[in-house]
Amino acid sequence: PFSKLSNVGTTIFSQMTQLANDNKAINLSQGFPDFMPDSKLLDYVDHFIKKGFNQYAPLGGMISLKEEIARKIENSHQAAYHPDSEITITAGGTQAIFTAIAALIKKDDEVIIFEPAYDCYEPTVELFGGIVRRFEMRAPDYEIDWNAVKGLVSEKTKMIILNNPNNPSGKILKEKDIQELIGIVKDTSILILSDEVYENIVFDGKRHISVCQYPELRERSFLIASFGKLFHVTGWKIGYCAAPKNLTDEFRKVHQFNVFCVNTPIQLALAEYMKEDEHYNQLNIFFQEKRDFLRKGLANTSFELLDCEGTYFQGVKYDKISDKNDFDFAQELTINHKVASVPFSSFYKNKLSEHVIRLCFAKKQETLEQALEYLAKV
Ligand code: GLN
Repeated sequence: PFSKLSNVGTTIFSQMTQLANDNKAINLSQGFPDFMPDSKLLDYVDHFIKKGFNQYAPLGGMISLKEEIARKIENSHQAAYHPDSEITITAGGTQAIFTAIAALIKKDDEVIIFEPAYDCYEPTVELFGGIVRRFEMRAPDYEIDWNAVKGLVSEKTKMIILNNPNNPSGKILKEKDIQELIGIVKDTSILILSDEVYENIVFDGKRHISVCQYPELRERSFLIASFGKLFHVTGWKIGYCAAPKNLTDEFRKVHQFNVFCVNTPIQLALAEYMKEDEHYNQLNIFFQEKRDFLRKGLANTSFELLDCEGTYFQGVKYDKISDKNDFDFAQELTINHKVASVPFSSFYKNKLSEHVIRLCFAKKQETLEQALEYLAKV
């Protein structure tokens, strides 16, 4: 009776990583790189710690980092955000998402999400009394039927949560999707929470489209990004939220009591690192090589590849191997074949199993080679 989230257990990412460790399996489940970040970035952290920057940052974040972020957004998306009043540094993407929802969602507000959906959206909305309306994107194309989405909109719709590029499907939104979205929200007060943490990991010369490129969307959006994904430092838990001043003001009212501020020397190090070079422009090439290596290897197995336009996750179908549901299959694959993955059904409320698992390819070459060797034997 005292639980506010009685249907929630431990996240699938923690579960699968634990199972991988217990079974000494290769961990392609939880999304994190198994290689080192750039040593220059590490040196900057060391430098700022030793120089004495070890106390609180301003609650919105260090201005030097916020300026670099504004420059990045301007360069990548030709959109202007005021560094001081429209950008807030957060303890990773997840905290930014939590804070935006906490700041705006009241009891009985409706929030539209697209499944497969990252696992934190729904419980966070529910914690604040919101009601989730979902559109299910389905294998193998994960297309959005915008007419169906329109059917979910009501006068109670307060927010639409997007995840573009989508984790786990690897799908990116196209211009036509964005135009449909604009059609839905214009002349309404619907807010958008746009989780774009994989924005710089988009393949085959395709372009990530950010909500901030469209004034009609920018004015109502919280744009969420993550340095963990950008610079291979998921354990640093640092990201940001860019939003127009009126939304940022609300965001910070919660942020100040939620974390107040985040790690000072790391903010300074990131700012210095971003000043020197636009490292993130190489990220798509870097990860595309890994994706292609994994896909080429899997082509010789009984697994079937789904498209992967972005993120560092590859969806694979295992219909030819087993008719188990994906949760059981992922367990079996970890225990018997020593490769841990994430079942796609964990991204659906109704645990829809379309026999698809997610493999993370943000891994060293040796790790991918070893995993492919094991997967070839399945
Ligand atoms: N974003 C990571 C993933 O999708 C997981 C992060 C976490 O474990 N909370 O695997």
